[in-house]
Amino acid sequence: AMLDRIKQIDPKVRAFLHVTEDLALSQAAQVDEKIAREEEIGILEGIPMALKDNMSTEGIQTTCSSKILENYIPPYNATAVAKLKEAGAILLGKMNMDEFAMGSSTENSHFFATHNPWDLDCVPGGSSGGSAAAVAAEEAIFTLGSDTGGSIRQPAAFCGVVGLKPTYGAVSRFGLIAYASSLDQIGPFTKTVEDNALVLQAIAGHDSKDSTSVPFEIPNYSEFLKQDVKGLRIGVPKEYFAKGLDEGVKGVLMKAVETFKGLGAIVEECSLPYTEYAMPAYYLLATAEASSNLARYDGVRYGYRAENVEDVISLFKKTRSEGFGPEVKRRIMLGTYALSAGYYDAYYLKAQKVRTLIQTDFNQAFEKFDVLLSPTAPTTAFKIGEKSGDPLTMYLSDVCTVPINLAGIPALSLPAGFVEGMPVGMQLMGRPFSEGMLYRAAHAFE
Ligand code: GLN
Repeated sequence: AMLDRIKQIDPKVRAFLHVTEDLALSQAAQVDEKIAREEEIGILEGIPMALKDNMSTEGIQTTCSSKILENYIPPYNATAVAKLKEAGAILLGKMNMDEFAMGSSTENSHFFATHNPWDLDCVPGGSSGGSAAAVAAEEAIFTLGSDTGGSIRQPAAFCGVVGLKPTYGAVSRFGLIAYASSLDQIGPFTKTVEDNALVLQAIAGHDSKDSTSVPFEIPNYSEFLKQDVKGLRIGVPKEYFAKGLDEGVKGVLMKAVETFKGLGAIVEECSLPYTEYAMPAYYLLATAEASSNLARYDGVRYGYRAENVEDVISLFKKTRSEGFGPEVKRRIMLGTYALSAGYYDAYYLKAQKVRTLIQTDFNQAFEKFDVLLSPTAPTTAFKIGEKSGDPLTMYLSDVCTVPINLAGIPALSLPAGFVEGMPVGMQLMGRPFSEGMLYRAAHAFE
């Protein structure tokens, strides 16, 4: 049924880069056999899902929506992918994204743009736009995305689905093709909070193959859904309701605040004073890390290799000039500059200090509040082409999401209402490893 749905709807939405039809059918047949034999089944047994194309899938092309990895076939599975397989989920295919997860609209894909299922003239958000659009268009029951500065939450908001960025270190990054390693996290897109908790249950946990993965006791996330929000302390950071926020979006969020009050939560305004420095710090740190991570694409070890080259240097130059798209090149240049001798202290080091201040902001807020509430993005989905010529305006769609990655805390986006027929996302943020609390609040609301 899912494969039929993809055939019917994906020519319009264009969420999939690659549909693994034969594999899906053979996996499904195995599930049928397992059930016929009355064997024990996994928590996601037989559930059709799809993956952002920056997650390594053994024997299946993994392109990061880049020409430089167009023909790359990983010899192993990412840990999150292996865990989903273990849990019995069925892979439908790989999803479109901004090249190397750099972007907020999925227009930076080397292959094609994805369309928002609510309005095909609009972007689905990014960089995990394909993953978000597929769940919204019912082309998969769930998908995985990655979030470095908002790439799960912002497309979840634009497409009207639930998206979680887990605590840094809660889900293994092994096999996730790196953009900015100190910020990247894998997380689920689903239609409901309940489904989201089940997928997180399957993928969370310590992994010795990822040195930044944290050993922690995995709670039963679904248990949290049984609790109400009476007495829950919700902070509303005023900096997230500042200029640039669409009036309609603000109205939806204010109504959400009233709903929470009606449910018995204690909602109060609070302040995260360093918020305004998050954006510049993020774009320095993320590009610095990216410039280092992307140095490995040189035409020797992976993917695309330029032809007619004279020597090694011209092989590197030609391969990278032809293989990377304009946004990726812009970021490699910015990051290389920020890390270069003489500028390191002025930019990179300063940004690291700002990062610490932002963490302190959140720590202080969480002394008083259990959860913080904000818009996920300042506007609803914008038109395809509207911002693609102006990188700075595009970067501003992340203003509500990037501080969370700098702090390493978990945050979830869930549908809160509509403005002119387009979905609005509400972001809930919590203390490290408080995903259960976020699910509890989100489930009470939805
Ligand atoms: N839009 C942000 C960026 O372009 C975030 C991307 C992401 O989270 N992968 O960097």
